[in-house]
Amino acid sequence: MKAAPFEHHEPTSLSQAVSLIESLDEPTILAGGQSLVPMLRFRLARPDTVVDINGIDELDYLHEADGYLKMGALARHADVEDSELITERYGSFADAAPLVADPQIRNRGTIVGSIAQADPKGDWGSILIAHDGEVVAAGPDGERTVPIDELFLLPYDTSLGENELITEARVPTPVEREGSAYHKLKRKTGDYAMAGVAARLILDEDGRIETAGIGMTAVDITNARAADAEDHLEGERPSADLFEAAGELAAEQSNPESDEHGDASYKERMVEVLTQRALGDAAERAGVTKRRVTP
Ligand SMILES: Cc1cc2nc3c(=O)[nH]c(=O)nc-3n(C[C@H](O)[C@H](O)[C@H](O)COP(=O)(O)OP(=O)(O)OC[C@H]3O[C@@H](n4cnc5c(N)ncnc54)[C@H](O)[C@@H]3O)c2cc1C
Repeated sequence: MKAAPFEHHEPTSLSQAVSLIESLDEPTILAGGQSLVPMLRFRLARPDTVVDINGIDELDYLHEADGYLKMGALARHADVEDSELITERYGSFADAAPLVADPQIRNRGTIVGSIAQADPKGDWGSILIAHDGEVVAAGPDGERTVPIDELFLLPYDTSLGENELITEARVPTPVEREGSAYHKLKRKTGDYAMAGVAARLILDEDGRIETAGIGMTAVDITNARAADAEDHLEGERPSADLFEAAGELAAEQSNPESDEHGDASYKERMVEVLTQRALGDAAERAGVTKRRVTP
């Protein structure tokens, strides 16, 4: 099947894109096209106008600035996978990038497009949750930042306005004694997660957990925060027993559905295990010795 006809625009600057989007009725943004193009082809999406942002060079960046790791709307999954900065400093991002889809999709698909798609099976939303990330949205009223916890409403639905686009996703740069990790269960290369867990820990000078962040993939109607597990961790010393209890709390807070890949109770058990593993790796990367945190 071919896509239904639509008007196509190719702005070359952000200001041009913003005025264009403002002037159009329900425009659809095209970034990597890895989710949108199949939807167009199968006529699951029938937009009147498509605004292709690939010609806006100023949105193509992945760097640290002003205390954030900033990913412009054209930063691709492969840019994260290939980045030395990511390998050296952002464990969860480095873990996740090679596990997203397959190499072809990673070469075109963008981090921001994935977040805007708001698929509960997307990996990056969980990582932004664990890192207390946010997105920058541009629209007719200027720019605003949206904390990731306020972005996802329902599957494929966000709190973005009709005439807004996301220009950037960002997370705070790591501090001393910080570590993060991502663990994902999938059946084979190219598959979405059956379940996934991102964890981020910051330890205080005394070795106790000062900040804990846990984001879960594919086990609720949106990427979800395991807030009870985070609360349980904060103020405590990292240990295998502590992480086991946090895994149980995360599993209790998850809300997976049974499907052809496994029943809900199996997925809950996987959340428990993946949470323990992600916390173990995050703690190790924050400087805790492996013996204390590996179950
Ligand atoms: C077979 C397959 C397997 C996949 N596996 C995984 C996986 O394991 N993990 C994973 O995380 N993802 C996976 N994906 C999704 C992939 O990561 C896509 O790249 C991603 O969902 C969309 O990014 P994109 O840049 O291609 O966006 P597009 O397809 O261009 O757009 C997706 C949606 O986001 C909107 N959008 C895009 N950019 C913006 C913006 N800047 N502002 C506002 N709205 C915007 C579009 O209008 C559209 O509604 C998979 C996809 C496929 C087809």
